[in-house]
Order: sequence, then structure tokens, then C-alpha cells
Amino acid sequence: MGWSPIEKSFKNWRVKPNLQNYEETRRIFSWAEIDAELKATIEGLNIADIAVDRHAKSDRADHIALRFLRKNWDVQDFTYRDLALQTNQFANVLKTLGVGKGDRVFALTGRIPSLYIAALGTLKNGSVICPLFSAFGPEPIYQRMNRGDAKVLVTTTALYQQKVVALRDRLPKLQHILLADSADHLEDGIWSLPKLMQAATSEFEIVSTQPEDMALLHFTSGTTGMPKGAIHVHKAVYAHYMTAKYVLDLHPDDIFWCTADPGWVTGTSYGIIAPLTHGVTSIIDEAEFDADRWYRILETQKVTVWYTAPTAIRRLMRLDIDPKAEYDLSHLRLVHSVGEPLNPEAVVWGQEKLGLPIHDNWWQTETGGIMIANYATMQIRPGSMGRPIPGVEAAIVRRHEDGTIEQIDQPGIDGDLALKPDFPSIFRGYLHDEERYRKCFVGDWYITGDLAMRDRDGYFWFMGREDDIIKTSGHMVSPFEVESALMEHPAVAEAGVIGKPNPMIGELVKAFVALKPGREPSEALKLELLGFARQKLGAAVAPKELEFQESLPKTRSGKIMRRLLKARELGLPEGDLSTLETN
Ligand code: AMP
Repeated sequence: MGWSPIEKSFKNWRVKPNLQNYEETRRIFSWAEIDAELKATIEGLNIADIAVDRHAKSDRADHIALRFLRKNWDVQDFTYRDLALQTNQFANVLKTLGVGKGDRVFALTGRIPSLYIAALGTLKNGSVICPLFSAFGPEPIYQRMNRGDAKVLVTTTALYQQKVVALRDRLPKLQHILLADSADHLEDGIWSLPKLMQAATSEFEIVSTQPEDMALLHFTSGTTGMPKGAIHVHKAVYAHYMTAKYVLDLHPDDIFWCTADPGWVTGTSYGIIAPLTHGVTSIIDEAEFDADRWYRILETQKVTVWYTAPTAIRRLMRLDIDPKAEYDLSHLRLVHSVGEPLNPEAVVWGQEKLGLPIHDNWWQTETGGIMIANYATMQIRPGSMGRPIPGVEAAIVRRHEDGTIEQIDQPGIDGDLALKPDFPSIFRGYLHDEERYRKCFVGDWYITGDLAMRDRDGYFWFMGREDDIIKTSGHMVSPFEVESALMEHPAVAEAGVIGKPNPMIGELVKAFVALKPGREPSEALKLELLGFARQKLGAAVAPKELEFQESLPKTRSGKIMRRLLKARELGLPEGDLSTLETN
């Protein structure tokens, strides 16, 4: 809005876009189309069969499936055949250890081959994979593993020693730790993964999971409680495949690069599964963000389709680099972004500096796959998330106090963004939390927790979140989790945590702290508290700013009013204060 639409032409493309006419594709689409295209080689449905073995048993067996770029630029390739054999070995490792169907296997590593092999091997074994972000501190790791009933953890020696050793007594269900980089077993239950892999055969019959069997567990943040484990089933692969076809526009010879870490849902759905379902080559960079490195990857790997995030794009934008002039990006056909609002400036920057506009899309942990998108062939309206994918109905709704729900058909009015929950990748529950799960559904709709509006042509525009969840560098952070960690410090009486708008990372985690009687605010104590939180939570979650207050604003029922803290921080109107405790 206020920005000129970007028209597309694909006349010079080397391939024909998969979605040529949005309205027509949407009109004729049915999930049966995807069912017919995904020819399982087993009874039932298993994501790893669709992603790996299906290709390994075809003439794509020798095509590169995963290409890892090590930090020193060494390249390690896995063909579909290699991947099939090694994931078989991993499945056999699990089987030998007595890990079975439905058991939870967690992974805490960087983006190394063992993580990808473990994820897909776990699925073959009918077990459930839950990758964690390796920059989490011990507390977020504990909360997720405990809640997720972790039976196995795949990690590295360093991460085990730094973050997991101290938690072991609190995780009685954790039976096996598989160290990806240890040549020897350490003790019973702490095994060398390479040694176990070596002893395992590379023949394995995939457990014939059913479409509704649990496959993936992804934790997402809550505002009022600890993280929620969103359950996804094997049938989610229909949505992974379908969106990679119609949104990412993958074709067999594409070189695809998703920059997300599998510790977040994008890094699993689109960093592991979706590209493999199309038999393409997927690039995985083990290093962290570095502008020159990223452009060199696009150039040297001849990346054709790139899926990244607004924070990364904003970091590229502020540098004095002219990518089109300084790097050969001629292979790049499409750039996509997800995770947080993509500023219109960024879309246009892409057009000018990369020679391609950036295609924003929207989804969340609970939806398992892309839901609203800008398509290769469709006009882009900078600042809009695009239009719903074929097979998914999205709407703006308003909830009434009597529990009814009203669909708002007029354009330009904001309300709750809602989806009809009848698509394959919608989450099937929050683990051990039926009530929280049920609350997400009202009438025929799944309420996403986001506020949005629709324009008259059906483009959706993100307006904000309905809750206090913080989005920092594209990652969800629960204020509750941060407050709980701060409260464990002996000096802290109360803590309230907000997201403070930040032009680079979206929102910055800021904490407000009231101290216990007898404790005085000081710069030293502030640093101590920031360090304390960082040690517990890890850099990705911990607050970056902290401010002392005499006492924090609370409701009469004693809940800290984060909304008010935020309004005061930003100098905004304080809104309805009728529930504010006044004494
Ligand atoms: P997560 O579950 O961590 O993937 O976070 C999902 C949330 O990120 C959504 O509910 C939105 O609040 C936000 N989000 C994701 N994609 C976009 C987007 N394209 N524009 C605006 N917000 C987004």
C-alpha cells in the first residue's frame, strides 16, 4: 500500500512456472492431485520414503540430494542413494537401542550431516524427530526435552558437555545420547554415533507409518506458559511437497537453498523435507550469516531458488555491497522470505539489487507449511504476504464474547487471521496440552493468533500479533520463558518482558525488573542479570536490554501488564487501565 505493485514476466525463464494462473490453479486444485503425484514405495505413508527412498529407487538415485558447505568451504555431498543408505543405518541404530514407533528423538547440533541423517532415519523408524536450536541455553533445552518426553538425543560432545550434562538428572526418560563427533562410546547410554553407524547395516524396511501418525514435534512459544510442542503427522508431507511446487516453484534441476536452521520449523519443513520431496539438490551452509559468504554461495553453488528471512535481508541491505554488480547471480530465479514482516523496501531492494523481487510468504509452526504466499507469476504488492495457497481457505474473522465467530468479507478491515483447518499439515495437537490446542479452534476456523486484513483482490496484509509473543531475528520468544528465568535470580522480585521494535531484528527482547527489598539497582547488577539470563537461556532467547523499576504494573489478579510496559516504553497511549492494580 503506497508502493507500486511489481509485475512479473517469466518470458526469459529457463523453466515454465508450476503455477501459471493463480485463480485457475486454486479452482481446480484438490489434495488428491498431490496424492496421485506422491507415489509411496511402502504401505502407508512415511515422510522419509517420499523424501528419500522414492528417489533412491529411481533414476534420480545418483543426483545430489544434500550439499553441505563446511565452515572452511569444504563440500560434502550426499546423493539420494547415499542418503537412503545412511538413514537406513541410523534407523537400525535406533532399532538396536530399542527405540520404537512414536518415541521421541531430539537433535541438538549445528547444521551438520548427522542432523539430517538422524531426522530422516528417525522418521524411517516410525519415531518422532524434534530438532532443537543449538544456540539455546540449558533451560530452553530442558523445558522442551522434558515436555517432549525425549528418549534419545543426538548432539555433539561440546554441546553435550556445555548444555546437557547438568540436566541429565532432571530428564529421567532420556535413555540414549548419541554423540555425532565422538570416536568412542563414553559410557553406557552415551554412545559414539559414528561407531554405532558403522556397526549398523544399511538395509532397513521403513516402518509403515500411517498418514495420521506423529512424525515431527516443533516447539513454539506461548505467552502464558512454557513452550508448546506442536504435533505434525506424516501426511504433512503433502503440504511440504505442494508448497514447494506451487510457491517455491521447484523443478528437478533446481539448486535450492533454505537458510533457516532446522531448530525452527522452516529449517525442517523447507530445509530438510520439502526440497527432497522434489528430488532437487539442497544446499546447507554450516556457517552463520556473513554477507560476502552468502553472496558467494549464491554465485558458486549456482543457487536457483533461495528461501531466506527478513532479518537476513535487512542485514544485507544495510551493507555497501552491490550484489548484482559484484557477484554472478545469474542463476537465481526466485527469492522467497518468511518468518516476520518483510518491509516493502526489502521487496523493492531485491528487485533493484538482486535483479529479483523478494516473495514474502506467511505461515507458522502450527500450520506446518506455507499458507499465504506471493507466487512467481503473480503481481507482488510490496508489504503484502500474498494470497492463500491452493487447497487452503484463509479469512479475516472477528470473535464475539458469546463464542460465535463472524467472517469479515469487506476488504480493508482488520481482524483475526483464521484458516479452515482441513489441510494436511495443520498441527494435530500440542503435546500434553489438549486444552490449549482446543482453544485455537473456534467454529470452523483455526485462529492463528495473528491480526491481518485482506484487500479487495484477496491479498493479505499482516497487522501484528494478538498476543505478547516476541519475534526477534525471526525467532519466536516467549516473554514468560524469559521472565521465569530472570525470576530464578535471588535479587529479582518481578520480571516483565516485552519486544521492543528494532529496525534490524524486528523486535529486541527487553526485560523490566523489580528487585527484592534490600537490593539496589546498579549497573553491575544489571550486567549480572543479563549474564545470568544469557547463561540460562542462550543468546537467541535472552534479553538484550534490562531496566529496573520500583514495581511493575499488574492487573488486579496479579498478572504483569506487558502491554502497558510496552506502551510506556514506546511513549504510546496506555489504553484501558481498568484492570490495573493501583495500590
Ligand atoms: P513460527 O511459529 O516461529 O514460525 O512463527 C510464526 C509467526 O511468525 C506468525 O504467526 C507471524 O506472527 C510471524 N510471521 C511469519 N511469517 C510472517 C510474514 N511473512 N509476515 C509477518 N509475520 C510473519
